[in-house]
Amino acid sequence: MELEKIKERIEQLTGKLNYYSDRYYMDDSPEISDYEYDMLQRELKGLEEQYPQFVLPNSPNNRVGGGVAERLFSPVEHTVKMESLQDAFSFEELRAFEGRIKELADPVFSVEPKIDGLSVSLEYEKGRFVRGSTRGDGLVGEDVTANLLTIKDIPKTIDFDGSLEVRGEVYMSHKGFLQLVKSQENLGLPPAKNPRNAAAGSLRQKDSSVTASRQLSIFIFNIQRIEGREFSSHIESLDFLKELGFSVLPFYNRAVGIEQAIDFIEKIGNKRGELEFDIDGAVIKLDNLSQRGEFGSTAKFPKWAVAYKYPPEEKETVLEKIEINVGRTGALTPTAQFTPVTLAGTSVSRAVLHNEDFIKEKGIRIGDTIIVRKAGDIIPEVVGVARHKEGSLPFEMPKSCPSCGAEVIREKGEAVTRCTNAECPAQLTRHIIHFASRDAMDIEGLGPAVVELLLEKGLVHHAYDLYSLKKEEISSLERMGEKSANNLLLAIEKSKENDLYRFIFGLGIRHIGAKAAKLVSDKMQNIDNILSASKEDFAAIDGFGEIMADSLFEFLSMPQTVDLIEKFKEFGLNMESQTVITDTRFEGKTFVLTGTLPTYKRSEAAKIIEGFGGKVSSSVSKKTDYVLAGEEAGSKLDKANALGVMVIDEETFKGMIN
Ligand code: NAD
Repeated sequence: MELEKIKERIEQLTGKLNYYSDRYYMDDSPEISDYEYDMLQRELKGLEEQYPQFVLPNSPNNRVGGGVAERLFSPVEHTVKMESLQDAFSFEELRAFEGRIKELADPVFSVEPKIDGLSVSLEYEKGRFVRGSTRGDGLVGEDVTANLLTIKDIPKTIDFDGSLEVRGEVYMSHKGFLQLVKSQENLGLPPAKNPRNAAAGSLRQKDSSVTASRQLSIFIFNIQRIEGREFSSHIESLDFLKELGFSVLPFYNRAVGIEQAIDFIEKIGNKRGELEFDIDGAVIKLDNLSQRGEFGSTAKFPKWAVAYKYPPEEKETVLEKIEINVGRTGALTPTAQFTPVTLAGTSVSRAVLHNEDFIKEKGIRIGDTIIVRKAGDIIPEVVGVARHKEGSLPFEMPKSCPSCGAEVIREKGEAVTRCTNAECPAQLTRHIIHFASRDAMDIEGLGPAVVELLLEKGLVHHAYDLYSLKKEEISSLERMGEKSANNLLLAIEKSKENDLYRFIFGLGIRHIGAKAAKLVSDKMQNIDNILSASKEDFAAIDGFGEIMADSLFEFLSMPQTVDLIEKFKEFGLNMESQTVITDTRFEGKTFVLTGTLPTYKRSEAAKIIEGFGGKVSSSVSKKTDYVLAGEEAGSKLDKANALGVMVIDEETFKGMIN
């Protein structure tokens, strides 16, 4: 690769990884599997080592962890740094690790499962648990004591008087995770993506009773510091913690030499599927504590330990059927149904096949032996075909909608095939579920199960029928008592007061997400202005692309839409934006917020900016006008400086708004 290309690739990988890292750490909602993330990170690391002149200041390889969405808890400075681990993806890399160890120490290791959760530190004084914190960037974390107190496995008192700090991994068991997903689905909330992210989200709750309801557990894996007691070996220290009543790692072994360690790793790998919790690898650590000092650490991890990451577990199975589901926007989504196999501890029999092209590219045919995996995530995927079944035929998308029989079309340049019937019952179910969902009309208690019952009983034919439901009708539904019926009616009534953008988002217009709905509703203030706006008016909204403007305009130009909105109006739904914009001094300006501000919370500052017509973005680019930076501002500040974007502090910001 020529140099310019390499520099570009490094920039591209850094940007991509930081974006995925934000989704993972800030939203608890990863967009790619850990394996894919690790492979990209590895590629970047290789290029950075070869071309150090192109390393960017915000490289994910130079920091521990990622950002937090909003600082909710007070900061805790760690007395002992909470480091990350270097990783290895092959036994050869482990042998090379042993080679480095051998230069200075006897290779005696502890081999442990690498629990896939989030790291916390627990501090004990005079036998009492006094404080617990998250890892944060390794140096400063967040004080989550109140939430940790709700975890049963954490002893609140111990029989040890000295000062003690231990480190452990908070995790959610498979059972706890499935229960959480079920309750989220019943409430019409988007389900958590995997146990790790669910655990992270559950621990960072403002309200401890929410954490308490989430079935979190912990495994302790290290003594960070201890007063009045010395150990020569790590394993010995783990045994001691066990005696004190800590929930220490469920198993750990002493290995003499790397071959024995690899043997244990393979054994742990074989057990992986049977465990009640996720592990994403095995950790090998030098067991002799005094020898560890010889090795020291990089900016990110200690050199005396390595995490072996297991390849995603893949299994072969037989594709029995391809089922077609019809979505809210009429999209036909093929789903593979295969002979059940156990992956990462759970039985799976279905995986989304996305669209016709995906199936064609992989050459997937019914009856084939396919390879499936759960790449560190809870969502299974079809990797490819192992063998075609004799005489199997290429898959054809149906020509008519499997739900209503109407014609289906696939527009030029689109991957998706859609049903053309706006009244299609399958679309209707999903449309109403979306209408009631949290980011749309936020009708609590109106989850998929209730919507399906309402449609089945013929009580609802359109989303607006929700507003004429009667108490007796709701309480006649299965498992719906009088109290739930009352609550649901109240929630429906309350939704009439919602801000206009929720209603617009709830209409389920293609390409118009919650953010776009807010932009248009803030800008145009009421539904009549929106209905009379032109395509160009929409395209001129900051943050709106052409495709969004086209889609919104087309939707609003349909006579059915006008009738539909009229119906909602008749039921008394609010059709005004509640964001009052009188002063638009920040119009056309984009801000990025980073770090902890002295007096404002980031969400408060964002509200002020939006109130003045400005935009808040989560990542810094050349288009950013200001970066409002507080204390501990990290990679975003570096990027702003690198790009020459103006950086302001809260003082200056206050000057700008007063
Ligand atoms: P890491 O998770 O690979 O390793 C370090 C962590 O392992 C420590 O913080 C510790 O808490 C934990 N751990 C568990 N068991 C342990 C044991 N027995 N001994 C020591 N430590 C143990 O590295 P990281 O820097 O914390 O995070 C990177 C991880 O996050 C990677 O797995 C990466 O794939 C994932 N990630 C994924 C995405 C995505 O989009 N999917 C984005 C960002 C990060």
